[in-house]
Amino acid sequence: MHDIYLNSEKIMFSLKGKTALVTGSTSGIGLAMAVALAKQGVNIMANGFGEKDAAIALIKSCGVEVDYHGADMSKPDQIEDLIKQTEKRFGALDILINNAGIQHTANVEDFPADQWDAIIAINLSSAFHTSHHALPGMKKRNWGRIINIASVHGLVASTQKAAYVAAKHGIIGLTKVIALENAKTGVTCNAICPGWVLTPLVQKQVDARAQREGISNEEAKNALVSEKQPSGEFVSPEQLAALAVFLCGPDASEVRGVAWNMDGGWTAQ
Ligand code: NAD
Repeated sequence: MHDIYLNSEKIMFSLKGKTALVTGSTSGIGLAMAVALAKQGVNIMANGFGEKDAAIALIKSCGVEVDYHGADMSKPDQIEDLIKQTEKRFGALDILINNAGIQHTANVEDFPADQWDAIIAINLSSAFHTSHHALPGMKKRNWGRIINIASVHGLVASTQKAAYVAAKHGIIGLTKVIALENAKTGVTCNAICPGWVLTPLVQKQVDARAQREGISNEEAKNALVSEKQPSGEFVSPEQLAALAVFLCGPDASEVRGVAWNMDGGWTAQ
């Protein structure tokens, strides 16, 4: 173990040497989570369809072991292989961050069925499949952290986001069940619910708004964030990553089944 002892009393817990799989870690929130965990000495299995070489180099620069698996998170057989390869490569999977996600906006009557299926598969079902395959190892070692990146849209709704809101509400339900089923073990499961974070996923919505309303990129950003977030500020990926690191530590061992929002006041209204 990598805990630090003084006169046989545990004085400091360290995540050094543990292994995390962060799905969708080639950009945005997932990449920030991978980097923050790597800074704690956690080896990383990266995944996602973004610029993987740049992401791997950034994570590696923190001085940990990094590997990459290109599983498509909408495909259960590829997810099973991702978990197997992570355990084989690093000897264990200790921290699972279910982060990969996509978005599509349209009213329900205009919402393409294939987009519905893709969002439910990637934003919700993938977290079931990863957890299904990762839990046996975590339970055997009696230590594990599953962190599901949900959203404020797991707590409240917005128009034009039927599939996303359904998936994010669903993943909070899944979080609670996994937390309860493992409540007497060293495995915890929690959800993080970000408000607006300026990542590639949101930049697409900013671009669409700028075009629709004939306004600048800066105006579209301000309009988007101030509409929902009383602080008028975006949440940063690094702030969310710091919360994930806390949830992995010993002070969070009794945080179980929460949906923890970090949203500039969005859901306080
Ligand atoms: P992003 O687009 O930067 O990152 C999404 C990641 O998922 C990328 O690495 C992408 O390649 C990966 N991905 C997409 N489809 C995939 C698939 N089929 N298989 C494997 N990887 C796939 O977006 P982000 O904003 O960093 O989003 C990360 C998570 O945070 C998502 O679950 C999103 O719903 C959630 N979230 C984002 C915000 C926000 O404002 N940005 C707010 C709340 C929740």
